[in-house]
Amino acid sequence: MSRKVKGSGNWYRGCRALARHHRKVARQRADWQWKLAIELCQEFDTLIFETLNLEGMKRIWGRKVSDHAFYQFLQILKQKCAKHGKAFEKIDQWTATTKPCSDCGYHNEALSLSDRQWTCPEYGSHHDRDVNAAINIKRAGLAA
Ligand SMILES: [Zn+2]
Repeated sequence: MSRKVKGSGNWYRGCRALARHHRKVARQRADWQWKLAIELCQEFDTLIFETLNLEGMKRIWGRKVSDHAFYQFLQILKQKCAKHGKAFEKIDQWTATTKPCSDCGYHNEALSLSDRQWTCPEYGSHHDRDVNAAINIKRAGLAA
């Protein structure tokens, strides 16, 4: 587009091609989100979500974070859950989910983003970072 003369016939043609491409990508993404939502609804009776700090994630990983359309996906899931009588919960944004040990509650303040696994110094539980966070999210969601 930037190489074309703005306002020319060629430029307008480029405009339409670009818009077409964006529409295609958006539709593919929505289609994939619907399929995933259906699978999740079929497999689970309760779905619990944590609120991600998207602004902070954008600072670390850039704008591609926005391309995942997380909000759109949650709207789709919420709709599917309502239709199939499944519970859809969101936990409080400020609930700590990554640092507490899901076995004893010890807060691992030393945990950094690159630590994918860690061992709790209290009882020696070995955690996968994301699985541990998921257990904490589930507990917070069920308590709410
Ligand atoms: Zn522990």
